[in-house]
Amino acid sequence: MFRAISTLLASLTLAVPTIAENPIAIVIHGGAGTILRENLTPDVEAAYRDKLAEAVRAGHAVLADGGTGREAVIAAITLMEDSALFNAGHGAVFTHEGRVELDASIMDGSDLNAGAIASVTRVRNPIRLADRVLSHSPHVMLVGEGAEVFAADQGLPLVENSYFHTDRRRKALQRAIDEEREALSEDTGDIPVIVDDKHGTVGAVALDQYGNIAAGTSTGGMTNKRFGRVGDSPIIGAGTYADNRACGISATGHGEYFIRAAVAHDICARVLYGNRDLQTAADEVIQQQLVAMGAEGGVIGLAPDGTVVYSFNTAGMYRAAISSAGELSVGIYGESESMVSK
Ligand code: ASP
Repeated sequence: MFRAISTLLASLTLAVPTIAENPIAIVIHGGAGTILRENLTPDVEAAYRDKLAEAVRAGHAVLADGGTGREAVIAAITLMEDSALFNAGHGAVFTHEGRVELDASIMDGSDLNAGAIASVTRVRNPIRLADRVLSHSPHVMLVGEGAEVFAADQGLPLVENSYFHTDRRRKALQRAIDEEREALSEDTGDIPVIVDDKHGTVGAVALDQYGNIAAGTSTGGMTNKRFGRVGDSPIIGAGTYADNRACGISATGHGEYFIRAAVAHDICARVLYGNRDLQTAADEVIQQQLVAMGAEGGVIGLAPDGTVVYSFNTAGMYRAAISSAGELSVGIYGESESMVSK
């Protein structure tokens, strides 16, 4: 009898969920750009909101189960890479030559360890490969064929490039090529700017119950890119940065500028050395520095206490978060839009 009661008590104790002492939080984005309400049908808008909510919930579930920030970032980003809605993994944009080349990075704010990959064409989930570079190689960044050899060594799923292709992005490439031809026929003598199908890069930043911040970003880059072009997303310090002492950041926007402004690191540095709160630091870089440079884009961020931050100088940014209070919010349009809790 006594044994039965004590067994029952033990199982009751085990059944009580452990309450995390430290805050957990996660924020994600699905790209920034000219995202206007009038350009999205209600069905498309709902599809984005649902996928953003699903991805941020998946990441949060990992954190709530005692998983690490990195694991949460991977869970959220993998879902978005597998969705045709975003410019990452399946559904990524096309290069000028009509194939898909993917870039990704991830950083662990507890030890500043990082992993990145660029210009891969066969790795189904680039964020997973970036994480393997972090955890299973002495390097920070691997590119192209070498990165794919490493992916195969690691047993990560490889797919045909056609797995990533979608009609929507193929049409965007055709549009970009037509516009480029038109610009060339105007004969300014300049090399035409790469035309962007402006949104869809994905990113996530998570704070786990051990007080560690991780950040990750994954993208197909920019429509009609060529010559092995790589943007900011896989560049540690530009598209992604995490430092437990300051913040975690994932960026999206015109990569050439984000690299030159070292956006993600600059924001964290302003917090660490410049005594700014994270929102102020992010706004200084996105709304002032980048605007002065003529660059479009935005960031998501998390402070060590779990404060969620967004800053973007575009009409919209696909985004979602679950705050340290456990509140889910999803947003698409401008700053004034009240984030819809789902
Ligand atoms: N930052 C990405 C790149 O330049 C594109 C984007 O975020 O839309 O490759």
